[in-house]
Amino acid sequence: MKYDFIIIGAGVVGASVARELMKYDVTALMIERENDVCNHASLANSAIVHSGHDPVPGSLKAKLNVEGNALYEQLEKEIEIPLLRSGAFMVAQTDEEVETLMNLRDRAKENGVPEYRLLDREEALKQEPNLHPDVKMVLDLPTTKVTYPWEVTLASAENAIDNGLDFKKATEVTGIEKTNEGFKVKTNKGDVFKSRYVINAAGGFSDKIAKMVEKTPEFEITPRRGEYFVIDRHMEGFVDHVLYPTPSSKGKGVLITPQVHGELLIGPNSEFQDDPENVDNTKAGLSFVRKESMRLAHNIPFNKVIRTFTGVRASSTHKDFYISESKEAPNFIHLGGIDSPGLTAAPAIGRYVLEEIIMKKETLLENKDFNPYRKKIHQFHDMSEKEKQEAFRFDPRYGNLICKCEKVTEPDVVHHINRSVPGDTVKGIKKRSRAGAGLCQGGYCEHNVIHLIARETGKKVTEVEYYDEHSNILKGETKVKK
Ligand SMILES: Cc1cc2nc3c(=O)[nH]c(=O)nc-3n(C[C@H](O)[C@H](O)[C@H](O)COP(=O)(O)OP(=O)(O)OC[C@H]3O[C@@H](n4cnc5c(N)ncnc54)[C@H](O)[C@@H]3O)c2cc1C
Repeated sequence: MKYDFIIIGAGVVGASVARELMKYDVTALMIERENDVCNHASLANSAIVHSGHDPVPGSLKAKLNVEGNALYEQLEKEIEIPLLRSGAFMVAQTDEEVETLMNLRDRAKENGVPEYRLLDREEALKQEPNLHPDVKMVLDLPTTKVTYPWEVTLASAENAIDNGLDFKKATEVTGIEKTNEGFKVKTNKGDVFKSRYVINAAGGFSDKIAKMVEKTPEFEITPRRGEYFVIDRHMEGFVDHVLYPTPSSKGKGVLITPQVHGELLIGPNSEFQDDPENVDNTKAGLSFVRKESMRLAHNIPFNKVIRTFTGVRASSTHKDFYISESKEAPNFIHLGGIDSPGLTAAPAIGRYVLEEIIMKKETLLENKDFNPYRKKIHQFHDMSEKEKQEAFRFDPRYGNLICKCEKVTEPDVVHHINRSVPGDTVKGIKKRSRAGAGLCQGGYCEHNVIHLIARETGKKVTEVEYYDEHSNILKGETKVKK
Protein backbone atom coordinates (compact mmCIF):
# COMPACT_ATOMS: atom_id res chain seq x y z
CA MET A 1 0.00 0.00 0.00
CA LYS A 2 1.30 3.46 -0.87
CA TYR A 3 0.42 6.40 1.36
CA ASP A 4 0.80 10.16 0.99
CA PHE A 5 2.03 10.37 4.62
CA ILE A 6 3.48 8.02 7.21
CA ILE A 7 3.69 9.25 10.79
CA ILE A 8 6.12 7.43 13.07
CA GLY A 9 4.98 7.53 16.70
CA ALA A 10 1.53 7.75 18.30
CA GLY A 11 2.23 10.06 21.23
CA VAL A 12 0.30 13.30 21.58
CA VAL A 13 2.38 14.94 18.84
CA GLY A 14 1.96 12.14 16.24
CA ALA A 15 -1.76 11.88 17.00
CA SER A 16 -2.25 15.66 16.75
CA VAL A 17 -0.45 15.82 13.40
CA ALA A 18 -2.50 12.84 12.19
CA ARG A 19 -5.77 14.55 13.12
CA GLU A 20 -4.72 17.73 11.33
CA LEU A 21 -3.70 15.76 8.23
CA MET A 22 -7.08 14.04 8.01
CA LYS A 23 -8.73 17.44 7.46
CA TYR A 24 -7.29 17.11 3.93
CA ASP A 25 -7.94 14.67 1.14
CA VAL A 26 -4.87 12.48 1.76
CA THR A 27 -4.00 8.91 2.68
CA ALA A 28 -2.01 8.45 5.87
CA LEU A 29 -0.69 5.72 8.16
CA MET A 30 0.46 6.14 11.77
CA ILE A 31 2.88 3.48 13.05
CA GLU A 32 3.48 2.91 16.78
CA ARG A 33 5.86 0.37 18.20
CA GLU A 34 3.94 0.04 21.49
CA ASN A 35 0.74 -1.91 21.97
CA ASP A 36 -1.33 1.26 22.35
CA VAL A 37 -1.19 5.00 21.73
CA CYS A 38 0.42 7.28 24.33
CA ASN A 39 2.81 5.15 26.28
CA HIS A 40 5.90 7.33 26.63
CA ALA A 41 6.36 11.04 27.46
CA SER A 42 2.76 11.77 26.48
CA LEU A 43 1.52 9.51 29.27
CA ALA A 44 3.95 10.40 32.05
CA ASN A 45 4.05 14.18 32.54
CA SER A 46 2.54 16.94 34.66
CA ALA A 47 -0.58 17.26 32.43
CA ILE A 48 -0.40 21.05 32.43
CA VAL A 49 -1.60 23.17 29.52
CA HIS A 50 0.92 25.91 30.24
CA SER A 51 0.03 29.55 29.62
CA GLY A 52 3.23 30.35 27.68
CA HIS A 53 4.94 32.55 30.27
CA ASP A 54 8.10 30.46 30.35
CA PRO A 55 9.63 29.80 26.88
CA VAL A 56 12.21 32.19 25.45
CA PRO A 57 10.43 34.90 23.39
CA GLY A 58 10.76 34.35 19.65
CA SER A 59 11.28 30.60 20.02
CA LEU A 60 9.03 27.98 18.44
CA LYS A 61 8.23 26.82 21.97
CA ALA A 62 6.85 30.26 22.85
CA LYS A 63 4.76 30.58 19.70
CA LEU A 64 3.32 27.05 19.75
CA ASN A 65 2.74 27.07 23.51
CA VAL A 66 0.50 30.15 23.41
CA GLU A 67 -1.31 28.93 20.28
CA GLY A 68 -1.68 25.42 21.70
CA ASN A 69 -3.13 26.70 24.95
CA ALA A 70 -5.89 28.51 23.02
CA LEU A 71 -6.54 25.47 20.81
CA TYR A 72 -7.29 23.31 23.85
CA GLU A 73 -10.57 25.22 24.23
CA GLN A 74 -11.52 23.99 20.75
CA LEU A 75 -10.36 20.43 21.48
CA GLU A 76 -12.61 20.35 24.52
CA LYS A 77 -15.63 21.10 22.33
CA GLU A 78 -14.65 18.94 19.37
CA ILE A 79 -13.14 15.78 20.83
CA GLU A 80 -14.34 16.06 24.44
CA ILE A 81 -11.05 16.13 26.27
CA PRO A 82 -11.20 17.02 29.97
CA LEU A 83 -9.99 20.48 31.05
CA LEU A 84 -9.57 21.72 34.59
CA ARG A 85 -9.41 25.50 34.47
CA SER A 86 -7.20 25.71 37.53
CA GLY A 87 -4.99 28.65 36.64
CA ALA A 88 -1.47 28.67 38.08
CA PHE A 89 0.44 30.48 40.79
CA MET A 90 4.16 31.00 40.33
CA VAL A 91 5.52 31.54 43.81
CA ALA A 92 8.43 33.80 44.82
CA GLN A 93 9.87 33.56 48.34
CA THR A 94 13.03 35.71 48.17
CA ASP A 95 13.84 39.16 46.76
CA GLU A 96 15.81 37.50 43.98
CA GLU A 97 12.82 35.32 43.07
CA VAL A 98 10.53 38.35 43.10
CA GLU A 99 12.82 39.92 40.50
CA THR A 100 12.66 36.75 38.37
CA LEU A 101 8.87 36.82 38.71
CA MET A 102 8.76 40.40 37.35
CA ASN A 103 10.89 39.30 34.39
CA LEU A 104 8.56 36.38 33.73
CA ARG A 105 5.57 38.71 33.85
CA ASP A 106 7.27 40.76 31.10
CA ARG A 107 8.04 37.57 29.22
CA ALA A 108 4.38 36.50 29.46
CA LYS A 109 3.43 39.82 27.87
CA GLU A 110 6.03 39.45 25.13
CA ASN A 111 4.92 35.89 24.35
CA GLY A 112 1.30 37.00 23.99
CA VAL A 113 -0.12 35.33 27.12
CA PRO A 114 -3.59 36.92 27.32
CA GLU A 115 -3.90 37.19 31.13
CA TYR A 116 -1.42 37.50 34.00
CA ARG A 117 -1.13 39.56 37.16
CA LEU A 118 0.96 39.86 40.29
CA LEU A 119 -0.59 39.05 43.67
CA ASP A 120 0.73 40.07 47.08
CA ARG A 121 1.26 37.59 49.92
CA GLU A 122 -2.12 38.18 51.58
CA GLU A 123 -4.15 37.70 48.42
CA ALA A 124 -2.15 34.60 47.46
CA LEU A 125 -2.63 32.99 50.89
CA LYS A 126 -6.31 33.89 50.86
CA GLN A 127 -6.77 31.96 47.61
CA GLU A 128 -4.37 29.11 48.48
CA PRO A 129 -4.22 28.66 52.27
CA ASN A 130 -1.83 25.69 51.98
CA LEU A 131 0.86 27.80 50.28
CA HIS A 132 4.10 27.92 52.26
CA PRO A 133 3.90 31.00 54.54
CA ASP A 134 7.27 32.25 53.20
CA VAL A 135 5.52 33.36 49.98
CA LYS A 136 6.35 36.99 49.10
CA MET A 137 4.66 37.43 45.75
CA VAL A 138 2.80 35.32 43.17
CA LEU A 139 2.47 35.56 39.40
CA ASP A 140 -1.12 34.53 38.70
CA LEU A 141 -1.55 32.83 35.29
CA PRO A 142 -5.30 32.24 34.84
CA THR A 143 -5.11 30.65 31.36
CA THR A 144 -3.13 27.68 32.71
CA LYS A 145 -5.23 24.52 32.59
CA VAL A 146 -4.80 20.86 33.43
CA THR A 147 -5.89 18.07 31.11
CA TYR A 148 -5.63 14.27 30.92
CA PRO A 149 -2.81 13.74 28.38
CA TRP A 150 -3.86 10.18 27.77
CA GLU A 151 -7.37 11.27 26.72
CA VAL A 152 -5.97 14.04 24.48
CA THR A 153 -3.82 11.52 22.61
CA LEU A 154 -6.49 8.83 22.42
CA ALA A 155 -9.20 11.28 21.33
CA SER A 156 -6.98 12.82 18.64
CA ALA A 157 -6.00 9.38 17.33
CA GLU A 158 -9.58 8.05 17.41
CA ASN A 159 -10.87 11.12 15.59
CA ALA A 160 -8.13 10.79 12.96
CA ILE A 161 -8.91 7.07 12.50
CA ASP A 162 -12.64 7.76 12.24
CA ASN A 163 -11.72 10.22 9.46
CA GLY A 164 -9.67 7.72 7.47
CA LEU A 165 -6.24 7.38 9.12
CA ASP A 166 -4.74 3.86 9.07
CA PHE A 167 -3.08 2.83 12.34
CA LYS A 168 -0.63 0.00 13.04
CA LYS A 169 0.24 -0.59 16.68
CA ALA A 170 2.87 -2.96 18.12
CA THR A 171 4.86 -2.27 14.95
CA GLU A 172 8.34 -0.80 15.13
CA VAL A 173 9.90 1.13 12.26
CA THR A 174 13.29 -0.50 11.79
CA GLY A 175 14.55 1.09 8.58
CA ILE A 176 13.74 3.75 5.99
CA GLU A 177 14.90 3.76 2.40
CA LYS A 178 14.79 6.87 0.20
CA THR A 179 13.34 6.23 -3.26
CA ASN A 180 12.57 8.40 -6.29
CA GLU A 181 8.89 8.59 -5.25
CA GLY A 182 9.51 9.14 -1.53
CA PHE A 183 10.29 6.49 1.07
CA LYS A 184 10.02 2.79 1.87
CA VAL A 185 9.36 2.35 5.58
CA LYS A 186 10.30 -1.08 6.95
CA THR A 187 8.98 -2.61 10.15
CA ASN A 188 9.86 -5.40 12.55
CA LYS A 189 6.80 -7.28 11.25
CA GLY A 190 8.37 -7.56 7.82
CA ASP A 191 6.04 -4.97 6.22
CA VAL A 192 7.30 -2.38 3.77
CA PHE A 193 5.06 0.69 3.48
CA LYS A 194 5.64 3.27 0.75
CA SER A 195 4.88 6.95 1.19
CA ARG A 196 5.63 10.34 -0.30
CA TYR A 197 6.23 11.98 3.09
CA VAL A 198 7.45 10.68 6.44
CA ILE A 199 6.76 12.54 9.68
CA ASN A 200 9.14 11.68 12.48
CA ALA A 201 7.16 12.00 15.73
CA ALA A 202 9.13 9.35 17.61
CA GLY A 203 9.75 11.43 20.76
CA GLY A 204 12.79 10.17 22.67
CA PHE A 205 13.71 8.04 19.67
CA SER A 206 13.38 10.74 17.02
CA ASP A 207 17.17 11.09 16.63
CA LYS A 208 17.41 7.35 15.93
CA ILE A 209 14.72 7.68 13.26
CA ALA A 210 16.58 10.71 11.84
CA LYS A 211 19.71 8.59 11.47
CA MET A 212 17.77 6.22 9.21
CA VAL A 213 17.75 8.90 6.48
CA GLU A 214 20.48 11.38 7.46
CA LYS A 215 24.24 11.13 7.88
CA THR A 216 24.42 14.07 10.29
CA PRO A 217 21.09 14.84 12.00
CA GLU A 218 20.67 18.42 13.23
CA PHE A 219 19.67 17.33 16.74
CA GLU A 220 20.46 14.65 19.26
CA ILE A 221 18.11 13.61 22.06
CA THR A 222 19.46 14.14 25.58
CA PRO A 223 16.82 12.35 27.71
CA ARG A 224 15.86 14.05 30.95
CA ARG A 225 13.94 12.16 33.62
CA GLY A 226 11.22 13.57 35.91
CA GLU A 227 9.84 11.68 38.91
CA TYR A 228 6.50 12.10 40.66
CA PHE A 229 4.36 11.14 43.64
CA VAL A 230 0.62 10.67 43.03
CA ILE A 231 -1.60 11.55 46.00
CA ASP A 232 -5.04 9.95 46.28
CA ARG A 233 -7.98 11.89 44.88
CA HIS A 234 -9.64 12.01 48.30
CA MET A 235 -7.25 14.92 49.00
CA GLU A 236 -8.91 16.92 46.17
CA GLY A 237 -8.99 20.62 47.09
CA PHE A 238 -5.62 20.66 48.87
CA VAL A 239 -4.66 23.25 46.26
CA ASP A 240 -6.86 24.67 43.51
CA HIS A 241 -4.12 26.16 41.32
CA VAL A 242 -1.08 24.59 39.71
CA LEU A 243 1.78 25.74 41.96
CA TYR A 244 5.11 26.47 40.26
CA PRO A 245 8.21 27.58 42.12
CA THR A 246 10.13 30.43 40.49
CA PRO A 247 12.14 28.61 37.79
CA SER A 248 15.91 28.27 37.81
CA SER A 249 18.48 27.38 35.13
CA LYS A 250 17.54 23.70 35.77
CA GLY A 251 13.98 24.19 34.54
CA LYS A 252 10.50 24.72 35.91
CA GLY A 253 11.28 23.01 39.24
CA VAL A 254 9.09 20.75 41.38
CA LEU A 255 5.39 21.57 41.01
CA ILE A 256 2.18 20.74 42.82
CA THR A 257 -0.51 20.04 40.28
CA PRO A 258 -4.18 19.19 40.86
CA GLN A 259 -5.33 16.61 38.32
CA VAL A 260 -8.60 16.37 36.39
CA HIS A 261 -9.65 13.24 38.30
CA GLY A 262 -8.87 14.78 41.68
CA GLU A 263 -5.40 13.38 42.41
CA LEU A 264 -2.48 15.62 43.25
CA LEU A 265 0.81 15.29 41.37
CA ILE A 266 4.00 16.23 43.18
CA GLY A 267 7.01 16.52 40.88
CA PRO A 268 9.03 16.40 38.71
CA ASN A 269 12.77 16.58 39.25
CA SER A 270 15.04 17.00 36.24
CA GLU A 271 18.01 14.68 35.70
CA PHE A 272 19.76 13.80 32.46
CA GLN A 273 20.16 10.10 31.71
CA ASP A 274 21.38 8.08 28.72
CA ASP A 275 18.40 5.80 28.20
CA PRO A 276 15.16 7.36 26.88
CA GLU A 277 13.29 4.28 28.14
CA ASN A 278 14.48 4.09 31.74
CA VAL A 279 11.42 4.96 33.84
CA ASP A 280 12.53 3.47 37.16
CA ASN A 281 11.99 5.66 40.21
CA THR A 282 15.03 6.47 42.32
CA LYS A 283 15.28 7.07 46.04
CA ALA A 284 17.38 10.18 45.46
CA GLY A 285 14.95 11.57 42.87
CA LEU A 286 11.87 11.09 45.03
CA SER A 287 13.61 12.49 48.13
CA PHE A 288 14.53 15.59 46.15
CA VAL A 289 10.94 15.98 44.89
CA ARG A 290 9.58 15.62 48.41
CA LYS A 291 12.01 18.16 49.88
CA GLU A 292 11.52 20.74 47.12
CA SER A 293 7.73 20.49 47.14
CA MET A 294 7.67 21.27 50.85
CA ARG A 295 9.11 24.69 50.01
CA LEU A 296 5.95 25.44 48.01
CA ALA A 297 3.23 24.24 50.36
CA HIS A 298 3.01 22.96 53.89
CA ASN A 299 1.22 19.85 55.17
CA ILE A 300 1.43 18.03 51.83
CA PRO A 301 -0.38 14.72 52.57
CA PHE A 302 2.49 12.37 51.70
CA ASN A 303 0.75 9.68 53.80
CA LYS A 304 -1.84 9.49 51.00
CA VAL A 305 0.59 8.65 48.17
CA ILE A 306 -0.90 5.87 46.02
CA ARG A 307 1.96 5.48 43.54
CA THR A 308 5.06 7.03 42.00
CA PHE A 309 6.13 7.25 38.35
CA THR A 310 8.78 8.65 36.03
CA GLY A 311 8.51 10.35 32.66
CA VAL A 312 11.39 11.03 30.29
CA ARG A 313 11.57 14.32 28.40
CA ALA A 314 12.90 14.20 24.82
CA SER A 315 15.13 17.25 25.35
CA SER A 316 17.67 17.81 22.61
CA THR A 317 20.92 19.51 21.74
CA HIS A 318 18.86 21.99 19.68
CA LYS A 319 17.24 23.45 22.88
CA ASP A 320 14.11 24.70 21.04
CA PHE A 321 11.60 22.33 19.33
CA TYR A 322 13.26 21.10 16.11
CA ILE A 323 10.37 21.14 13.62
CA SER A 324 11.74 21.14 10.13
CA GLU A 325 11.98 19.33 6.84
CA SER A 326 15.19 17.28 6.68
CA LYS A 327 18.08 19.07 5.00
CA GLU A 328 19.27 15.74 3.56
CA ALA A 329 15.99 14.00 2.70
CA PRO A 330 13.25 16.15 1.12
CA ASN A 331 9.69 15.35 2.31
CA PHE A 332 11.03 13.92 5.58
CA ILE A 333 9.74 16.07 8.46
CA HIS A 334 11.31 16.04 11.92
CA LEU A 335 9.42 16.80 15.11
CA GLY A 336 12.46 16.48 17.35
CA GLY A 337 13.29 17.72 20.83
CA ILE A 338 9.63 18.04 21.76
CA ASP A 339 10.03 18.28 25.51
CA SER A 340 7.91 20.59 27.67
CA PRO A 341 5.62 22.34 26.66
CA GLY A 342 5.02 19.65 24.02
CA LEU A 343 1.69 18.50 25.43
CA THR A 344 0.37 22.07 25.37
CA ALA A 345 1.84 22.79 21.96
CA ALA A 346 0.75 19.52 20.28
CA PRO A 347 -2.42 20.81 18.54
CA ALA A 348 -0.50 23.89 17.36
CA ILE A 349 2.38 21.68 16.17
CA GLY A 350 -0.15 19.80 14.03
CA ARG A 351 -1.24 23.04 12.38
CA TYR A 352 2.32 24.32 12.02
CA VAL A 353 3.44 21.16 10.21
CA LEU A 354 0.56 21.49 7.77
CA GLU A 355 0.57 25.23 7.23
CA GLU A 356 4.27 26.10 7.48
CA ILE A 357 5.88 23.01 5.95
CA ILE A 358 3.56 20.79 3.90
CA MET A 359 1.28 23.46 2.39
CA LYS A 360 4.35 25.42 1.32
CA LYS A 361 5.15 22.47 -0.99
CA GLU A 362 1.77 20.95 -1.78
CA THR A 363 -1.74 22.03 -2.63
CA LEU A 364 -3.91 19.78 -0.51
CA LEU A 365 -7.63 19.62 -1.07
CA GLU A 366 -9.94 19.88 1.90
CA ASN A 367 -11.50 16.63 3.15
CA LYS A 368 -15.14 17.64 2.78
CA ASP A 369 -16.25 14.64 4.88
CA PHE A 370 -13.98 15.49 7.83
CA ASN A 371 -15.94 15.23 11.06
CA PRO A 372 -14.13 17.16 13.81
CA TYR A 373 -16.28 15.67 16.56
CA ARG A 374 -15.49 12.63 18.68
CA LYS A 375 -17.71 11.54 21.52
CA LYS A 376 -16.10 10.23 24.66
CA ILE A 377 -17.64 7.31 26.49
CA HIS A 378 -20.04 8.61 29.12
CA GLN A 379 -19.01 6.31 31.96
CA PHE A 380 -21.14 5.25 34.90
CA HIS A 381 -19.04 7.29 37.37
CA ASP A 382 -19.72 10.47 35.33
CA MET A 383 -23.50 9.97 35.27
CA SER A 384 -26.08 11.78 37.39
CA GLU A 385 -28.23 9.61 39.67
CA LYS A 386 -31.07 9.82 37.14
CA GLU A 387 -28.79 8.79 34.29
CA LYS A 388 -27.47 5.88 36.34
CA GLN A 389 -30.98 4.57 36.96
CA GLU A 390 -31.86 4.89 33.28
CA ALA A 391 -28.60 3.23 32.21
CA PHE A 392 -29.26 0.33 34.57
CA ARG A 393 -32.84 -0.10 33.30
CA PHE A 394 -31.57 -0.08 29.71
CA ASP A 395 -28.63 -2.45 30.42
CA PRO A 396 -28.61 -4.36 33.75
CA ARG A 397 -24.88 -5.04 33.32
CA TYR A 398 -24.40 -1.53 34.76
CA GLY A 399 -25.08 -3.29 38.06
CA ASN A 400 -21.85 -5.27 37.69
CA LEU A 401 -19.15 -3.14 39.33
CA ILE A 402 -15.77 -4.11 37.87
CA CYS A 403 -13.70 -1.54 39.82
CA LYS A 404 -14.97 -0.50 43.24
CA CYS A 405 -12.54 2.39 43.86
CA GLU A 406 -13.43 4.24 40.64
CA LYS A 407 -16.96 2.84 40.15
CA VAL A 408 -16.29 1.36 36.72
CA THR A 409 -18.97 -1.01 35.42
CA GLU A 410 -19.02 -3.87 32.92
CA PRO A 411 -20.53 -1.85 30.01
CA ASP A 412 -17.90 0.90 30.55
CA VAL A 413 -15.08 -1.61 30.04
CA VAL A 414 -16.83 -3.38 27.15
CA HIS A 415 -17.28 -0.05 25.32
CA HIS A 416 -13.55 0.71 25.68
CA ILE A 417 -12.60 -2.71 24.32
CA ASN A 418 -14.64 -2.06 21.19
CA ARG A 419 -13.47 1.48 20.18
CA SER A 420 -11.48 2.57 17.09
CA VAL A 421 -8.29 2.26 19.17
CA PRO A 422 -9.33 -0.73 21.28
CA GLY A 423 -8.32 -1.08 24.92
CA ASP A 424 -7.45 -4.76 24.78
CA THR A 425 -4.84 -4.93 27.56
CA VAL A 426 -5.20 -4.49 31.32
CA LYS A 427 -3.22 -1.24 31.29
CA GLY A 428 -5.14 -0.09 28.22
CA ILE A 429 -8.39 -0.45 30.18
CA LYS A 430 -6.87 1.26 33.22
CA LYS A 431 -5.92 4.29 31.11
CA ARG A 432 -9.30 4.46 29.38
CA SER A 433 -11.75 3.67 32.17
CA ARG A 434 -9.69 4.26 35.39
CA ALA A 435 -10.31 0.65 36.51
CA GLY A 436 -7.13 0.12 38.56
CA ALA A 437 -6.21 3.80 38.90
CA GLY A 438 -7.75 4.24 42.36
CA LEU A 439 -6.75 3.54 45.93
CA CYS A 440 -6.24 -0.24 45.56
CA GLN A 441 -4.30 0.20 42.28
CA GLY A 442 -5.95 -2.78 40.59
CA GLY A 443 -5.85 -5.23 43.51
CA TYR A 444 -9.61 -5.82 43.23
CA CYS A 445 -10.41 -5.22 39.58
CA GLU A 446 -7.51 -6.58 37.52
CA HIS A 447 -8.85 -10.12 37.33
CA ASN A 448 -12.33 -8.82 36.40
CA VAL A 449 -10.78 -6.81 33.57
CA ILE A 450 -8.79 -9.83 32.34
CA HIS A 451 -11.95 -11.92 32.12
CA LEU A 452 -13.87 -9.20 30.25
CA ILE A 453 -11.06 -8.70 27.72
CA ALA A 454 -10.89 -12.47 27.18
CA ARG A 455 -14.65 -12.70 26.67
CA GLU A 456 -14.86 -9.74 24.27
CA THR A 457 -11.78 -10.56 22.17
CA GLY A 458 -12.11 -14.34 22.11
CA LYS A 459 -8.72 -14.81 23.81
CA LYS A 460 -8.00 -17.23 26.63
CA VAL A 461 -7.51 -15.48 29.98
CA THR A 462 -3.91 -16.70 29.93
CA GLU A 463 -3.39 -14.82 26.64
CA VAL A 464 -4.57 -11.43 27.94
CA GLU A 465 -1.59 -9.13 28.35
CA TYR A 466 -0.91 -6.51 31.00
CA TYR A 467 0.53 -4.23 28.38
CA ASP A 468 3.43 -5.41 26.23
CA GLU A 469 3.68 -8.52 24.18
CA HIS A 470 4.41 -11.46 26.55
CA SER A 471 3.30 -9.49 29.65
CA ASN A 472 0.51 -12.01 30.38
CA ILE A 473 -0.57 -12.00 34.01
CA LEU A 474 -2.27 -15.39 34.40
CA LYS A 475 -0.47 -18.70 33.97
CA GLY A 476 -3.64 -20.77 34.40
CA GLU A 477 -6.90 -20.95 36.30
CA THR A 478 -6.89 -22.50 39.77
CA LYS A 479 -10.64 -22.66 40.43
CA VAL A 480 -12.35 -23.75 37.23
CA LYS A 481 -16.04 -24.63 37.47
CA LYS A 482 -16.70 -28.01 35.85
C1 LIG B 1 8.38 14.63 33.28
C2 LIG B 1 7.68 15.38 32.17
C3 LIG B 1 6.80 16.43 32.45
C4 LIG B 1 6.19 17.12 31.43
N1 LIG B 1 5.21 18.03 31.72
C5 LIG B 1 4.56 18.67 30.71
C6 LIG B 1 3.48 19.54 31.00
O1 LIG B 1 3.02 19.66 32.12
N2 LIG B 1 2.94 20.25 29.96
C7 LIG B 1 3.40 20.13 28.68
O2 LIG B 1 2.92 20.84 27.81
N3 LIG B 1 4.37 19.23 28.37
C8 LIG B 1 4.94 18.49 29.36
N4 LIG B 1 5.90 17.57 29.07
C9 LIG B 1 6.28 17.36 27.68
C10 LIG B 1 5.30 16.46 26.94
O3 LIG B 1 4.90 15.37 27.73
C11 LIG B 1 5.98 15.97 25.67
O4 LIG B 1 6.50 17.08 24.98
C12 LIG B 1 5.04 15.24 24.73
O5 LIG B 1 4.35 14.22 25.41
C13 LIG B 1 5.83 14.65 23.58
O6 LIG B 1 4.98 13.89 22.78
P1 LIG B 1 5.54 13.02 21.60
O7 LIG B 1 4.37 12.47 20.89
O8 LIG B 1 6.54 13.83 20.84
O9 LIG B 1 6.42 11.88 22.30
P2 LIG B 1 6.00 10.46 22.92
O10 LIG B 1 4.81 10.54 23.76
O11 LIG B 1 7.24 9.94 23.57
O12 LIG B 1 5.64 9.58 21.65
C14 LIG B 1 6.59 9.11 20.75
C15 LIG B 1 6.11 7.75 20.29
O13 LIG B 1 6.95 7.27 19.24
C16 LIG B 1 7.01 5.86 19.36
N5 LIG B 1 8.16 5.35 18.64
C17 LIG B 1 9.47 5.58 18.91
N6 LIG B 1 10.27 4.92 18.06
C18 LIG B 1 9.45 4.26 17.21
C19 LIG B 1 9.68 3.38 16.11
N7 LIG B 1 10.91 3.05 15.71
N8 LIG B 1 8.60 2.87 15.46
C20 LIG B 1 7.34 3.19 15.86
N9 LIG B 1 7.08 4.01 16.90
C21 LIG B 1 8.11 4.54 17.57
C22 LIG B 1 7.11 5.66 20.86
O14 LIG B 1 6.78 4.35 21.24
C23 LIG B 1 6.16 6.71 21.40
O15 LIG B 1 4.87 6.21 21.63
C24 LIG B 1 6.48 16.81 30.07
C25 LIG B 1 7.34 15.74 29.80
C26 LIG B 1 7.88 14.99 30.83
C27 LIG B 1 8.66 13.76 30.51
